[in-house]
Amino acid sequence: MRGASDHGAADPAHAPDQGVNRPRIQKVGVVGAGVMGAGIAAQVANAGVPVVLLDIVPGAAAKSVERMLKTEPAPFMHKGAARLVTPGDLGTDLALLAECDWICEAIVEKPEAKRDLYAKLESVRKRGAILSSNTSTIPLAALTEGMGESFAADFLITHFFNPPRYMRLLEVVRGPATRAEAVAAITEFGDRVLGKTVIPCKDRPGFIANRIGGLWMQSAINRAFDLRLTVEEADAIMSKPMGIPKTGVFGLLDLVGLDLMPHVAASMKATLPAEDAYALGLREHDVILRMIAEGRTGRKGKGGFYTREKGPGGESLKRAIDLWTGEYRESEKPQLESLSLRDLRALAEHPDRGGRYARAVLLDLLGYAASLVPEIADSIADVDAAMRLGYNWTYGPFELIDRLGAAWLARALAEDGRPVPPLLAQVGEGSFYRVRDGRLEYLGTDGAYQPVPRPEGVLLLADVKRRSAPLARNGSASLWDIGDGVACLEFHTRMNALDPGTIEMIGKSLAMGKKGAFRALVIHNEGEQFSVGANIGLALFAANIAAWGEIEGLIEAGQKAMRSLRDAPFPVVGAPSGMALGGGCEILLHCDAVQAHAESYIGLVEAGVGLIPGWGGCTTLLRRWAENPRAPKGPMPPVAKAFEMISTAQVAKSAFEAREMLFLRPTDGITFNRDRLLADAKARALSLAEGYAPPEVGPLRLPGETGRVALGMAVHQQVLLGRATPHDVLVCERLAEALTGGRKDHTEDTTEAELHALERQGFMALLKTPATLARIEHMLETGRPLRN
Ligand code: NAD
Repeated sequence: MRGASDHGAADPAHAPDQGVNRPRIQKVGVVGAGVMGAGIAAQVANAGVPVVLLDIVPGAAAKSVERMLKTEPAPFMHKGAARLVTPGDLGTDLALLAECDWICEAIVEKPEAKRDLYAKLESVRKRGAILSSNTSTIPLAALTEGMGESFAADFLITHFFNPPRYMRLLEVVRGPATRAEAVAAITEFGDRVLGKTVIPCKDRPGFIANRIGGLWMQSAINRAFDLRLTVEEADAIMSKPMGIPKTGVFGLLDLVGLDLMPHVAASMKATLPAEDAYALGLREHDVILRMIAEGRTGRKGKGGFYTREKGPGGESLKRAIDLWTGEYRESEKPQLESLSLRDLRALAEHPDRGGRYARAVLLDLLGYAASLVPEIADSIADVDAAMRLGYNWTYGPFELIDRLGAAWLARALAEDGRPVPPLLAQVGEGSFYRVRDGRLEYLGTDGAYQPVPRPEGVLLLADVKRRSAPLARNGSASLWDIGDGVACLEFHTRMNALDPGTIEMIGKSLAMGKKGAFRALVIHNEGEQFSVGANIGLALFAANIAAWGEIEGLIEAGQKAMRSLRDAPFPVVGAPSGMALGGGCEILLHCDAVQAHAESYIGLVEAGVGLIPGWGGCTTLLRRWAENPRAPKGPMPPVAKAFEMISTAQVAKSAFEAREMLFLRPTDGITFNRDRLLADAKARALSLAEGYAPPEVGPLRLPGETGRVALGMAVHQQVLLGRATPHDVLVCERLAEALTGGRKDHTEDTTEAELHALERQGFMALLKTPATLARIEHMLETGRPLRN
């Protein structure tokens, strides 16, 4: 059975149902095949919907598709999705747009060019086809000017963020004449099909995220100059302490390109009232102007605020710019006392440069944000969501205000002789959010609290956790009741690494299920990563004190836990998002079904740290390939496939790739919108619960000794080609043994218990080698594999 939001890509017949009584968008047109247009077209194709992509430059659209097939991070979730994009030239292929239900314009940011194009589109589009612009700065009113009634009724702004596949925010602006059905259709399509969080914005310059994000960048730059901070100091304060990505502000500019700044500034200056704080703060800095003139525009140019240079020994040295001389110097770790503070208010009150900087930027940012509701959005919850999803902030501005204290902020603004926005004055000693009866509420502009709305079909574990106590809990994992007889097992260690506590909680959950506490189990969490696998730090520690018995005991307990997930008398559904690596992947391999977020990155990566999967991963992946009806028959092909995937630590870079690699089954579902993942997984679990019987697991017929020898020869070839190190050979030998059934003959069956024993033996033998320990240590220190 297919999951609720599942759709086979490259198969338009499986385009998802967008709900009843809503006009369905079955074909999309995108005009402008640049950075954004091409990326939007790719995401539409990822979702299994055919899309026409046109550009004014002949051949440009086709080139964009080719380029995207080579781009990293990939705009396409799998290569096959590219087949759903029909590239064409505006001059000759305009008629292709006649079949489209939605045409999205993403051409150059010039109102006249856009309006000229709209006039052309008017001559081909079918009646009622929705038109939208991806403009970042042009008001809707300016785009619809002189365009006629039927155009205005079908027109809106759909503002995607770059890169469109990965950024979850979609800002939507409707005009006074826009049909409600058009807004509803785009909202539905953006949310369910493209997986975006759709935030309604007012027709104001920069909408929500770029208005506030732009002011934040401006303030963070200006204040760094005023208070004479180094770029490293500014970025250290502007990142972790405020819940902002580690690029901070200067690192972010390097990422997006410094040359973008003057354009954004000019457009904001042209559209905002002169007394707006954003317009007032516009300033030019000589160093930055010089950098742009010299092509030092960031990562895509000749370096930016940061750059890398080769050291005397050929090593790569990180350098940073001196903001006053414009010269590069060795990058320095900031030494500010204020940086050690965990509490945001303590940071903003600290007297050193870092504290004064934090205070100044927070006052600029939060005072501004509070002054903009309801001008740019109807709700503070929408503003916060836009900043979280459009800029990857952990907290939106109003959540930051609550962390500081609204009254504290109001006092601080008044102390500095700045206006206190009415919304901030209104909240007084209170907060913008509160929890009542287990529900999250926000302060409306009418002064009354109301629940933060969740669209139908959205179930968040965070909401469940607010309103209930766990059914069971330890330091590593918790079990929650998510309603209708379904429980959810949540991991909550750092990066959701799996440890003895996790294994214990799996056992406890299953025992509770067997006693009738629930009738189906979902394994899901809202961490960035589903799980990065077994905690290798613990393994290293145990190996260093030679606690071999303990380690082997944990491997055995893990294998048992995986088997019991699969063999439980009720269905177990895995619902991953982000990385599911090593042990995290092994958990999914033992679930009865998986409902995966489209952005799931799944793989058995143990070889990278000199190990082999020990929790049934070798055995189950092998079985997947052996039972795959499309795979070549015979005992050797599945072994060779699993061997190749595990020995080279292959990771699927989307749920679709995971399906091709059989980490997911064809029947496993894919959900595009992360907020809908848990509800989809729960629905899947319930659909399996009726008359559920655990799968039957028979023995495997494996090639045995001859297969092992053949794999050994293949590895030897790799050594000769310089592609494998001596330690790779050792890892491969153990892996080959675990996949071929060891020393057995190919006429004998191999049981799961025998294969699990081989996995354990291989794992333990490898863990006892210094080369594996060196790999683990290196991975823990650098996050990268060591080739030794
Ligand atoms: P881009 O320069 O990369 O691409 C624009 C493309 O449009 C080019 O391929 C160009 O040949 C084509 N084009 C120009 N005039 C055309 C016409 N009349 N008909 C058909 N094609 C035409 O630009 P981009 O960064 O992709 O931006 C496109 C739009 O998206 C702009 O409105 C921009 O403001 C907006 N936007 C950009 C970003 C971003 O980060 N780059 C983010 C959000 C929104």
